[in-house]
Amino acid sequence: MQDQLPALPYDYAALEPHIDQRTLALHHGRHHAGYVARLNEALEPFPVLHMHSTLWLLLNPSKLPANIRTAVRNNAGGHYNHSLFWRAMAPAAGDEPQGAFADALARDFGDVAQFKKRFAEAGSRVFGCGWVWLARAKQDGALRIYSTTEHESPALEGNFPILVNDVWEHAYYLKHENRREDYLAGWWSVVNWHEAARRFAHSSTFGERRWSEDLGHPRLVA
Ligand code: MN
Repeated sequence: MQDQLPALPYDYAALEPHIDQRTLALHHGRHHAGYVARLNEALEPFPVLHMHSTLWLLLNPSKLPANIRTAVRNNAGGHYNHSLFWRAMAPAAGDEPQGAFADALARDFGDVAQFKKRFAEAGSRVFGCGWVWLARAKQDGALRIYSTTEHESPALEGNFPILVNDVWEHAYYLKHENRREDYLAGWWSVVNWHEAARRFAHSSTFGERRWSEDLGHPRLVA
């Protein structure tokens, strides 16, 4: 089965004014769709690889034909990261972390405000194209902030992604031009803390199968 572009869980205008309709339409309908199309194109001569999840493809480059490794790394990476990113946001989110997830943020960052400050700083420091993440570290289970370039992910080192923001220019340039900090500041208004808390609750079970089920669309299920 070929990869499919997952439907957005909200309308293109739903994150206005923080993320404008045109940006979201292009980002989902062309950028993410492009990664899916190019991933399918790379895998097309190797139907057996379609039996595996997107994350498996990313975690096992040595098991891929050498001539598609770069295409898979870039496009499965883009597909995986964007699939998480759409679900990290919700219309009129506006609330704050609660419960055990809020307690863990306080334990590892001091308080939620400190976490937000450090996350936004990390996002502003990504040079060129990349992503900023909150993930649960494989090593000790602590919540940590990670930055990645291109379509890399802390999941590739075994850390469980909890929350992610896309800081490629295509995510914000139409509205904010070069002002990435404005995008990062406004983004908190559309963060889906319920989804982050749900991922946190699941993060004690590490492993590709759990992650893939968590993403909730067919080609990402192991
Ligand atoms: Mn993007």
